Amino acid sequence: MKISLISLGCPKNRIDSEVIIGEFGVSGYEITQFPEDADVVIINTCAFIESARDESRKIIKQVVKLKEKKKSLLILVCGCLPQLTGSSLLDEFPQIDGIVGSSDFHKLPDIILKLKKNKKKITEIRTPDFIYNSHLPRLISTPPSYAYLKIAEGCSNHCSYCKIPQLRGEYRSREIKDILNEAHNIAEMGYKELILIAQDTTNFGIDKGERTLHKLLKELTKTKEFLWIRLLYTHPAHFDDKLISIIENSPQICKYIDLPLQHTHSDILKRMNRPSWEQTKPLIKKLQKAGITIRTTFLVGFPGEKEEHFNKLLSDIEEFEFDWAGAFTYSCETDTPAARLTDQVPFKTKKERVAKVFELQKGITHKKNIERKNEQFLVLIDTKEKGHSIGHSEFQCPEIDGKCYCSGKLNPGDVFMGEVKKVKGEYDVEVG
Ligand code: SF4
Repeated sequence: MKISLISLGCPKNRIDSEVIIGEFGVSGYEITQFPEDADVVIINTCAFIESARDESRKIIKQVVKLKEKKKSLLILVCGCLPQLTGSSLLDEFPQIDGIVGSSDFHKLPDIILKLKKNKKKITEIRTPDFIYNSHLPRLISTPPSYAYLKIAEGCSNHCSYCKIPQLRGEYRSREIKDILNEAHNIAEMGYKELILIAQDTTNFGIDKGERTLHKLLKELTKTKEFLWIRLLYTHPAHFDDKLISIIENSPQICKYIDLPLQHTHSDILKRMNRPSWEQTKPLIKKLQKAGITIRTTFLVGFPGEKEEHFNKLLSDIEEFEFDWAGAFTYSCETDTPAARLTDQVPFKTKKERVAKVFELQKGITHKKNIERKNEQFLVLIDTKEKGHSIGHSEFQCPEIDGKCYCSGKLNPGDVFMGEVKKVKGEYDVEVG
């Protein structure tokens, strides 16, 4: 029996997909990347904002079309979309055979057996409480250079615009021992970079009494096979000196932090239920002083965002010159506190503001890339494309930031010392 999986959304969802494929692999199923060749198509969905839900529905419709030609095809939809919609997704798409929430994807092989036996539609959705562990099989799908490792699941921060706590449940950390076990397995497979992810990596341990990311990092750096250990999805209120110190002083930990700020005006941050700018500003200064590259994201057009708030954001972006920044327009999500705010920003204004942030940031990133000329740094090769080896440095996160284009015969997983020869396009650099 052939299984095909379509994975949507962020790296956190990607790990769930890797566990699903791992489970099917050990259960003796054949895996195909072509849904049209499969007997079962699984769609692991994302639903955290409207555009993600639209994308999930678009893919479901495409797979439903396949079923029109091949009646025996089983369609299973798992992850955040069914977690959000519940069984109404089966009413919307009667061709779906089973829906599985964000905490039951590891049961998919059993669910398929049940479906084949009883031919009755299956709904497996409950309050999310699951997190995978190192004993579950996982087929890593990233290039040989880097692998993600999810250290916690869910979120308890309750930013006022965010649906994640509803979709993924309250924050729950994995056991340090289990994470180390998985990291050891990843290192043995030859991956050079370990990328730690969670909805909020800096909250690690809080559900067990105290934040212990610094302890986890200290233990992880004992695995000498990793060239780099990178931290994504941090929260500005959850850093402390112990954490900053280990990032600063361990050569293996990337001098790179993904620190979503969302805004820099404290009125807006308060409405977002996020830490104030006065609280966050010293942290940014500290990280920048320590030579740490900062990648951030901004959310523009939040209810109540007036010109003066937005202009403050632009002037702070100019002042702090973040190395990398992305921006999103606010998406009004039902059942979130922000959706109840009355002063929503018109769609056109949101679009104009997000474009302004991108325009401003493009110039800053370009300037930063030029400043790296004549600086020697290591590049980890991720892939080969049209005569180029393409990789990333410590100051670039794969899949998110700009890339390094290198000449010469370098293969994925190779490490190369070079310097910026030319800035290429908006975000990339040529390294030689
Ligand atoms: S930190 Fe805020 S934005 Fe991020 S997942 Fe948690 S609630 Fe959502």
